[in-house]
Amino acid sequence: MLNKVLIANRGEIALRILRACKELGIKTVAVHSTADRDLKHVKLADEAVCIGPASSTESYLNIPAIIAAAEVTDADAIHPGYGFLAERADFAEQIEKSGFKFIGPTADVIRLMGDKVSAIEAMKKAGVPTVPGSDGAVPTDPVRCKEIALRIGYPVIIKAAAGGGGRGMRVVHKEDDLLGSIQVTQSEAAAAFGDGTVYMEKFLTNPRHVEIQVIADGQGNAIHLGDRDCSLQRRHQKVLEEAPAPHIDEAARAKTQAACIKACIDINYRGAGTFEFLYEDGHFYFIEMNTRVQVEHPVSEMVTGVDIIKEQLIIASGMKLSYKQEDIVIRGHAFECRINAEDPKTFMPSPGRITQFHSPGGLGVRWDSHIYAGYSVPPFYDSMIGKLITFAPTRSEALLRMGSALDELVVAGIKTNTDLQKKLVVDAAFAKGGVNIHYLEKKLAEEQ
Ligand code: ADP
Repeated sequence: MLNKVLIANRGEIALRILRACKELGIKTVAVHSTADRDLKHVKLADEAVCIGPASSTESYLNIPAIIAAAEVTDADAIHPGYGFLAERADFAEQIEKSGFKFIGPTADVIRLMGDKVSAIEAMKKAGVPTVPGSDGAVPTDPVRCKEIALRIGYPVIIKAAAGGGGRGMRVVHKEDDLLGSIQVTQSEAAAAFGDGTVYMEKFLTNPRHVEIQVIADGQGNAIHLGDRDCSLQRRHQKVLEEAPAPHIDEAARAKTQAACIKACIDINYRGAGTFEFLYEDGHFYFIEMNTRVQVEHPVSEMVTGVDIIKEQLIIASGMKLSYKQEDIVIRGHAFECRINAEDPKTFMPSPGRITQFHSPGGLGVRWDSHIYAGYSVPPFYDSMIGKLITFAPTRSEALLRMGSALDELVVAGIKTNTDLQKKLVVDAAFAKGGVNIHYLEKKLAEEQ
């Protein structure tokens, strides 16, 4: 087992990693910016190192500072969490070159999946269903581009191979706009990501976001932990997630899960990962793979009983997966509400001091958060301050439990999106299950 892990992140995920380390008897090193001295995990870690000023480019994104902290504390591995450096292949590479273990896949695999064109190609080889598209970068010949779009059928979407965070995409509805859109997306992608490669896909008009959680040990073993539905999104940011995804075609589900496992073995995947799909009319269409743990991983933990972070640590220690696929049984249903420090109407961030705090509790209620009364939410980072997760034998019970848990949550002194979440859990269409990725934005627009 690893001896000491440096947690290269902040907030709730840093605390989540610390908890898993403690249970495995692993010592912890917290690294933090000057604005984050009061974070809960910083106080709880065995050691803490300040790695720079508030600005994340100078702290949480500062690779030399993080590696130096690992050196002075004699850590043996670095957990990147999510966001920040978690999907940066050069980070993984430099960690390994400096003699530490990166808790995640190899740099080569991060690179392969970070380029969406090469990721799609690898997925197709493994039999993972993909969106009908250009099969690689769009060609330079305008006639060929038009032929591809005609074959796919309008509307199409032009996407940057290096894109991320919902940026670098453009929908095209008719041939007249095709070449212009390709050019604009290419130059935007070159400017934003340093890589102007774009590809073309069929634009699905009514999809859901369904993703499959996997864990692999890089020693020939891979399992999936079922799926999650994360269709409730605003500006490509997930708001409320659940597991398992409701109303999914069982044959398509089983086939896609098996293909994801094959893909993990084919690319020699190591660690936790997520295959993201659009799901429409009973079909899965791969869009990208996230080579890290995700914010919404707890809903899968609740329905499988598997501690995903512990498995990451076990795998990074060089051990084999603790589970075989037949050990994984999906039981019950779980929801997760992301609680953000933001104005529930304007969505403007609302940093500041939390004057009062009360966490919900009870059977099947989980609160993953670093906040406490007296804690000041800094203005420099993501506005998510906690995740409220509920679990129950059935979907409707888990949803009722979420409503009750949201009523118990008290965060005073700052604004939060709790009222929005309360509205969502009683929304009739959401309660039925299976709303598409546009549903939340439409609902918000109608209310305005
Ligand atoms: P990113 O890495 O920027 O998150 P994705 O490829 O995951 O990019 O796409 C982000 C979002 O864009 C998807 O969740 C979906 O809402 C939308 N999108 C992407 N591809 C398509 C498509 N082919 N059809 C419809 N919507 C799409």
